[in-house]
Amino acid sequence: MDEIKSGLTEVVCDILVIGGGTAGPMAAYKAKRHSPGARVVLLEKANVKRSGAIAMGMDGLNNAVVPGYATPEQYTKEITIANDGICDQAPVYKYASRCFEIIQELDGFGIKFQKNENGDFDVKKVHHLGSYVLPMPNGDTVKKALYRQLRREKVLISNRYMATRLLTGRDGQIAGAIAVNTRSAEFLVLRARTVILCAGAAGRLGLPQSGYLWGTYENATNSGDGYAMAYHAGAALANLECYQINPLIKDYNGPACAYVAGPFGAYTTNSEGNRFIECDYWSGQMMQEFYNELQSGKGPVFLKLNHLHSDTIGKIEAVLHQVERPSRGRFHENRGTNYRERMIEMHISEIGFCSGHSASGVYVDEFARTRCQVSMRPAIWQASRTITCSAPSPTERWRASTRRKLQPTSTSPTTTPPMSCASSNACWPRHDGRMAFRLTSLNTRRDAS
Ligand SMILES: Cc1cc2nc3c(=O)[nH]c(=O)nc-3n(C[C@H](O)[C@H](O)[C@H](O)COP(=O)(O)OP(=O)(O)OC[C@H]3O[C@@H](n4cnc5c(N)ncnc54)[C@H](O)[C@@H]3O)c2cc1C
Repeated sequence: MDEIKSGLTEVVCDILVIGGGTAGPMAAYKAKRHSPGARVVLLEKANVKRSGAIAMGMDGLNNAVVPGYATPEQYTKEITIANDGICDQAPVYKYASRCFEIIQELDGFGIKFQKNENGDFDVKKVHHLGSYVLPMPNGDTVKKALYRQLRREKVLISNRYMATRLLTGRDGQIAGAIAVNTRSAEFLVLRARTVILCAGAAGRLGLPQSGYLWGTYENATNSGDGYAMAYHAGAALANLECYQINPLIKDYNGPACAYVAGPFGAYTTNSEGNRFIECDYWSGQMMQEFYNELQSGKGPVFLKLNHLHSDTIGKIEAVLHQVERPSRGRFHENRGTNYRERMIEMHISEIGFCSGHSASGVYVDEFARTRCQVSMRPAIWQASRTITCSAPSPTERWRASTRRKLQPTSTSPTTTPPMSCASSNACWPRHDGRMAFRLTSLNTRRDAS
């Protein structure tokens, strides 16, 4: 399936998908289903089989909006509150509205979602207000299942190529990307009529406080390439002031996942063994409570499971050590720490931009359209925070014209616009016709609301 062989210098395709985590394979699959004759290339800097934030899979879908349990309106409200109001509601609402059909489709791929004795989806309450977590008994098979679909649809997969810049034509429309082979350092030019960017979050904006380079909650190789490429191509970025800090297990490069263990009866405690967090699922409020406890002198903070029955802990271990991150079990084994015997010390992660929880990243509207081109077609598909940039001309005419016009986007620093707090849609055209970076002051936004 690794179709782009080393030695090639140029590839022409109709649709280029950058990033092969979960949004990327889904976008490539949808694009191919929509246009079977199209040449769809999926570019991934690691290997699609095991790349991205989840690598294998996940224990449950955290943003399941299932009729009977929740409505798109409730979900949008939940995310807005969790993000302290820093959120573009239209794309979140659109996602929530289409969520159920996507769940059903994934179910059809063989990714099983837990059902109750009546055969209905068995949604759990983990968030602050509503119920949006749908357990996945065979969640560790997600990536495999997506890969099967890619093979079936004959999507061209290009592993070990890292996109470095989006290409634009003279009119500013997206025309492809430049990538470098992470093994051989060879460059590759990909000319594409449409680019769908699914390069994930920005997980490591600085050295983690723990001092461990990989001591991140987010996939440490999600380094924000997508944000940078989109920005350089003229797209707006949105809601970055709502960054994330997440609880980790101390000295372990991975999440604490108190919210995973929560439905089984586990929780976060202070050093006195007292619960102090209202809800273990991520929100600005949760991290504030975490911070306050550390400042109060009652730290460090712990994950508490030792009050639970051994069988229950076994179930939690199956999720945390098999589905979430297999290295975690080995870490505890070698440390001699056992959930049954004592509480496990936690730590906090570095700052990260996470499009998943904090609805931040490249600005897209509810049709997954960015603001980086003059004219555009509706997006063919949006999965998570993908961006779709389409050129309007038919493929052949486009190929002929871009052969003449193709040029990398400027890498020169752009003028920083003044801080704008006046509008929640603060994105304005610059003198060169591109859209400026949007930056809104958190305090002022709060005051305004
Ligand atoms: C530790 C952890 C646990 C989570 N658990 C859950 C859970 O239980 N339930 C849930 O619903 N959600 C969970 N999430 C969130 C969920 O995993 C993410 O929202 C989702 O996987 C994001 O998918 P994505 O495709 O946007 O990004 P990713 O899956 O991160 O994929 C991005 C891909 O782009 C590639 N890439 C990046 N830059 C480039 C480039 N320049 N060129 C080529 N390729 C590039 C990366 O290698 C990566 O493969 C969790 C997240 C984390 C970090």
